[in-house]
Amino acid sequence: MAEKRDYYEVLGVSKDASIDEIKKAYRDLALKYHPDRNPGNKEAEEKFKEVTEAYEVLSDPEKRKIYDTYGHAGFGPSGFDWTQDFSRVRMDFSDIFGDFFDDLFGDIFGSDFTTKTRQRTKIRGSDLEYRIYITLKEAATGTEKYINVSRFDECPICNGTGSKGKTGKITCQSCHGRGQVVRTSGFITISQTCPKCKGEGEILSDPCPNCRGTGRVRNMHKILVKIPPGIQSGMSLRLKKEGDVGVNKGERGDLYVTVFIEKDPIFERDGENIYIEVPITVSQAVLGDEIEIPTLTGKAKVKIPPGTQNGDLLRLRNMGFPRLNGYGKGDLIIKVKVLTPRRISRQIQNLYQQIKELENDDIYPEIKKFKEKL
Ligand SMILES: [Zn+2]
Ligand SMILES: [Zn+2]
Repeated sequence: MAEKRDYYEVLGVSKDASIDEIKKAYRDLALKYHPDRNPGNKEAEEKFKEVTEAYEVLSDPEKRKIYDTYGHAGFGPSGFDWTQDFSRVRMDFSDIFGDFFDDLFGDIFGSDFTTKTRQRTKIRGSDLEYRIYITLKEAATGTEKYINVSRFDECPICNGTGSKGKTGKITCQSCHGRGQVVRTSGFITISQTCPKCKGEGEILSDPCPNCRGTGRVRNMHKILVKIPPGIQSGMSLRLKKEGDVGVNKGERGDLYVTVFIEKDPIFERDGENIYIEVPITVSQAVLGDEIEIPTLTGKAKVKIPPGTQNGDLLRLRNMGFPRLNGYGKGDLIIKVKVLTPRRISRQIQNLYQQIKELENDDIYPEIKKFKEKL
């Protein structure tokens, strides 16, 4: 065996490096050389063993002291014997490497694993999503709708503890309440989340039969959704803390209600403006008239000015959609559609005949212009 390199040199840290510096150096090197990242690379494997060995000594104050005083000799000839059963160690490694980055580096390096205490993790409840369909008129005036929501609530039998009796949770015997179990893989000691209690350090002695120990039950709720006037299709309303109840007294999630506006048979919406196509007769277009039209909130009288053309737009101010910010409304815009009669009586025919004889190109500037181009 080649002569051992100095452990500080191996980790690339100074003799007076702090434990954090040592941890960081090891973390970087272990990630670089670890066997799963360098399959079949003997050199990387050797490097990995070397840095792990150095780390194991320097991260332990006792061992570090011995090493600082006596050097490698302080551990005797069999201090770190890698030749023995390395295949088993290697296997254990790939086994734990799934958790290695998360658990080992997260737990051991992220926090100090000797002082790591168990904690019941509060988990926020899920957000829920529902859809609601309303009419255009409802969107214009605002409305209130009930929706049926299936969500998790705190179990009323155990008050969310998940436990049937008063004893509640008892200390986990696998990890003696630490939430972590220690595994030794020949040369390295790994602290892992206890699989029995999943790191909580305690287990239920008698789970609540109503919620099977989860502390939550699913219920149906009728929830009132207030839809503000002016809402656009596809907008979501957030109802705070109306989602699933959290786990271990975690915060409740939110309820998101997405509002969809059904297509209206007569009104068409464009932002805050509303369009409506209104058919009128030729004589109404020529002479002008007053007609009644539907609006978002009822009816309105509209003056058709004399000489109105097909396709003209008549704008009724402030009769469109309310603005969501609460300031004013858009317009109701009338698209005029001039109709010619479908059935013509003899009398009407005679009158149109007389009109035709009176008409000339001077009263139809567009026709005059068109003829000039020919
Ligand atoms: Zn319960
Ligand atoms: Zn445990």
